Amino acid sequence: MARPIRSVCVFCGARNGTPPAYVAAARALGAVLADANWRLVYGAGDVGLMGEVARAAQSEGAETFGVIPQHLMTREVGRRDLTSLVVTETMHERKKVMFVNSDAIVVLPGGAGTLDEFFEVLTWRQLGLHGKPIFILNIDGFWTPLLALISHVIAQGFAEETIHHYFTVVETVPDLARELHAALG
Ligand code: AMP
Repeated sequence: MARPIRSVCVFCGARNGTPPAYVAAARALGAVLADANWRLVYGAGDVGLMGEVARAAQSEGAETFGVIPQHLMTREVGRRDLTSLVVTETMHERKKVMFVNSDAIVVLPGGAGTLDEFFEVLTWRQLGLHGKPIFILNIDGFWTPLLALISHVIAQGFAEETIHHYFTVVETVPDLARELHAALG
């Protein structure tokens, strides 16, 4: 029997960021997803890195599953031409629908929303509520200050060293692709 398609949830900015490397990485990830025949699960918007990863994935033939709250349809330019679109009432529902429909999570550069999304899946993982792999793409060292903050939190006694077991840091999109293949088969 054919194996169900594997789904990769991408958390990333609703903006592009300043250095062009972030847009390039988002596009490259979209192509990786299509090449591997993985479905993109994301925030359904057509703005920032979100828009970049989705356009690249879609143009290379990947399935796209977008989830967006009704109140952000205009602000984040919700896409109606995805393979599937779920419009939720709340932000919490959005995160839940994205999470339950994914087999792995990738964190690209982003702002407060991306941090919120990352910490939610990290804390759920820390509590043993799921075992989905979480990958941080530390492209051009973007997330190095976050990793330093997590080390500080451990050093000050507010988390165990084992928190590092719950996410994997990769520096390049090819490394991320290798890790995803190892995790998803
Ligand atoms: P940002 O990283 O701030 O550019 O936001 C990235 C994405 O996360 C955007 O689509 C935001 O709407 C979304 N976002 C921000 N906060 C939340 C939240 N609490 N729950 C769900 N999505 C959120």
